[in-house]
Amino acid sequence: MVGILAVQGAFAEHAQMLDRLGAAYTCIRQKRDLVGIERLILPGGESTTQRRLLCDLGLLVPIREMIASGMPVMGTCAGLILLADEVADEERCLGGLPVRVRRNAYGRQLGSFSVVGEIGSINDYPMRFIRAPYVETVLQPDVQVLNITDGRITAVQYKHILGLAFHPELTEDDRLHQYFLSFSA
Ligand code: GLN
Repeated sequence: MVGILAVQGAFAEHAQMLDRLGAAYTCIRQKRDLVGIERLILPGGESTTQRRLLCDLGLLVPIREMIASGMPVMGTCAGLILLADEVADEERCLGGLPVRVRRNAYGRQLGSFSVVGEIGSINDYPMRFIRAPYVETVLQPDVQVLNITDGRITAVQYKHILGLAFHPELTEDDRLHQYFLSFSA
């Protein structure tokens, strides 16, 4: 069963994508929703709000432990920020992904834009960025960089953790969700 963190942000769009792919999922809003979860999606939204809600709802520590024990997780945009081991000028949240990210990294003019590019071996993938972060530095050599756009790292994979600065749930293209569902749980 896939868990979609559903405390704030674009969780409904991930759910629609999983519906299309016929993957069973449940929305995570409280601790008991985590029972039976084998993989987790952390959606885009507002990472500071999500962080506060994770703490208030008692979800932070159990999710951190699940990720540390090897559960596959995909974080998109704000979700990438939650997963990063370091966040420039801020405290980290869940951690687990050895990268340093910078929030709202493209400035106001480039707050929202779309490009098409390669994500690892996936070609012609539409990437939609909305007040996106980017990965400033990878902190371990075995972090795989899956995409660089305009000289900035926007997609990484570290073992069972996929971190994306853009929003794969806001396009019609389901290949990244399929890729994530192929990770062994
Ligand atoms: N700017 C948001 C943040 O810092 C992320 C934006 C998004 O998820 N689309 O949390």
